Amino acid sequence: KPLVCVRHVSKQFANGTLAVRDVNLHLGAGEFISLLGPSGCGKSTLLRMIAGLGAPSTGTIEWPTTSHDASGEPDRDLGFVFQDPTLMPWATALGNVMMPLTLKGVRKSQAQERAAEMLALVGLKGFEKSYPRELSGGMRMRVSIARGLVLRPKILLMDEPFAALDEITRHRLNDDLLELWWKERFTAVFVTHSVFESVYLSKRIVVMAARPGRVMADLDVDAPYPRDD
Ligand code: ADP
Ligand code: ADP
Repeated sequence: KPLVCVRHVSKQFANGTLAVRDVNLHLGAGEFISLLGPSGCGKSTLLRMIAGLGAPSTGTIEWPTTSHDASGEPDRDLGFVFQDPTLMPWATALGNVMMPLTLKGVRKSQAQERAAEMLALVGLKGFEKSYPRELSGGMRMRVSIARGLVLRPKILLMDEPFAALDEITRHRLNDDLLELWWKERFTAVFVTHSVFESVYLSKRIVVMAARPGRVMADLDVDAPYPRDD
């Protein structure tokens, strides 16, 4: 059973912009999917609707395998990573990663332990006490990914997370993200406008058109690079 079913979803903003038009998409458990398309084609809008941030104008987004509350809202078990890491400047790396746990009421000692574990997983062991301003752009993004995964969500939605980083940092983060995905087995949805990045990262690429917010192709691709898995 798919984790998320997007059925005939369209989104028209109040100003008349038709950002997403009749998209159909099933996200399977454990997949690494890239959502590829030029700037302005509706990738973010679609990703945000999957996250429950903004409702579709028409169509439905179903979570067939999750429980629903009394009003029919699904319990969306997801993490979200934005292009801007949006860390709290007054909190340490550890404090930032702990935040989702703290909001859930997890005991402090347990939250600290789990957050430290996540920081180690993204390669930031030893940086627990560093503040965001003391970290590089790539490291801040690592903190943001650790925060996105700290509740062990079924699905991690990423909106052009590495677009603002230099090429080398971006390449390293791509590799480390893949390794993390192999280890942690979450479903990954990765928004990018880079063909290179989508092919490098994923076996399935959903291609959106420049206009007007349609899915043009849903491709299975073989990684062009030898991987030792
Ligand atoms: P992408 O992520 O592919 O760059 P977006 O989903 O951000 O594309 O935007 C798709 C289209 O919707 C663009 O034309 C954008 O200007 C427009 N758009 C995005 N958000 C809003 C909004 N809140 N109000 C009106 N138009 C919007
Ligand atoms: P954009 O559309 O963001 O400019 P491109 O796909 O055109 O992205 O890539 C820009 C440059 O960055 C290219 O030289 C490409 O080889 C390099 N690049 C993109 N993604 C990666 C990656 N994951 N690892 C290494 N280099 C990359």
